[in-house]
Amino acid sequence: METVVIIRYAEIHLKGKNRGYFEHAFANNLERSLRGLRHELHRTSGRWLVANFEEGKAEEIAERIRSVFGVHSYSIGYLTGASMDEIFEAALLVAPKSGTFKVETHRGNKKYPLNSMEISAEIGGRLLAARHDLKVDVHSPSGTVYIDIRENGALVFGSYMRGVGGMPVGTAGEGLLLISGGIDSPVAAYMMAKRGLSVRLLHFHSYPYTNEGAKEKVVTLAKLLSKYTQTAELTTVKVTHIQEEIHAKCAEELNVTLLRRFMFRIAERFARENGYACLITGESLGQVASQTMEGLTSSNLVVTLPVLRPLIGFDKDEIIDRAKQIGTYETSILPYEDCCTVFLPEHPATRPKLSFTEEEERKLDVAALIEEAMATAEKITF
Ligand code: ATP
Ligand code: MG
Repeated sequence: METVVIIRYAEIHLKGKNRGYFEHAFANNLERSLRGLRHELHRTSGRWLVANFEEGKAEEIAERIRSVFGVHSYSIGYLTGASMDEIFEAALLVAPKSGTFKVETHRGNKKYPLNSMEISAEIGGRLLAARHDLKVDVHSPSGTVYIDIRENGALVFGSYMRGVGGMPVGTAGEGLLLISGGIDSPVAAYMMAKRGLSVRLLHFHSYPYTNEGAKEKVVTLAKLLSKYTQTAELTTVKVTHIQEEIHAKCAEELNVTLLRRFMFRIAERFARENGYACLITGESLGQVASQTMEGLTSSNLVVTLPVLRPLIGFDKDEIIDRAKQIGTYETSILPYEDCCTVFLPEHPATRPKLSFTEEEERKLDVAALIEEAMATAEKITF
């Protein structure tokens, strides 16, 4: 008998002919999440098994695979031989500590000499004989003993734990997230990675107006996200001169609008150079002045890549809940300047008129400023 972690996947079965591709990506991502822990990963009829790990490591393995997208549910259980004695030995270990139980058997191997009902009855009977404190309740038991009969043995486990669901990261291509140090963009990363996108990260800073602490904060966020995004790098670009130019030459209420157009252009350049298929932001309709329809349109118009905004219909409360759940919230609320708050006008335009925006932008050497910013790109790996 061996302790194993049983992994069931979500949605992959929907993918018909591409199934092999999805499963391959899923297995790779599981492997990556288990890096540094001795283990073997086996695929068996519709699920994966993590086996041959050090004693006492099951919980840690479960914790790591829990946040791999594509994991629908998982269980810690036992891989046993095919005999009733061996199955019973494991059943004793997973049966509830007290109260009531039932046995639920699934017979993947139809050649097994007993059918599911007979196996459940046999193991249930033996459990009752061995544990006088337990009673059977098939409707609402305090615990269930699950038995899964397979080719050369059985899996025995006591519960199904929910994984994060979604699609394996990497199966939907690559996208570039504009990541700030705020609450929203890390959540946007999570949402898109959940649908299988490889999320790459680009951060704008305005050193020396924003300091090292602000950058450190974004690196910390990127690290926290890496267990979901499987990305271990972040690129930063300095937009200080762009902001100074906008501040010096353009109508004050358009500071944010104009800066965002630069961010989008630079992000698109960067995405195209690296073959990324879309841009992603943490914007939510109406949340702040720059996130009105007019604000969103103004930045969309300077790029041709699709811009995904997975939080567009979320309330701030909902975003905060999700940020807490994925573990980025506490870092996001640390007080550091973001470049968007440098030179923040007192009354930013909420409905910037496109003709006026373009007129003000013509006062700047857009192409040269973008070149200059691109040259400051710095890759941080962690
Ligand atoms: P967040 O919580 O993600 O910072 P926000 O509500 O503060 O969002 P804004 O600051 O207007 O809103 O930013 C909107 C989006 O623009 C962010 O979600 C992010 O995708 C992008 N963004 C903002 N600041 C930066 C930055 N310094 N670097 C890269 N992207 C940024
Ligand atoms: Mg912000």
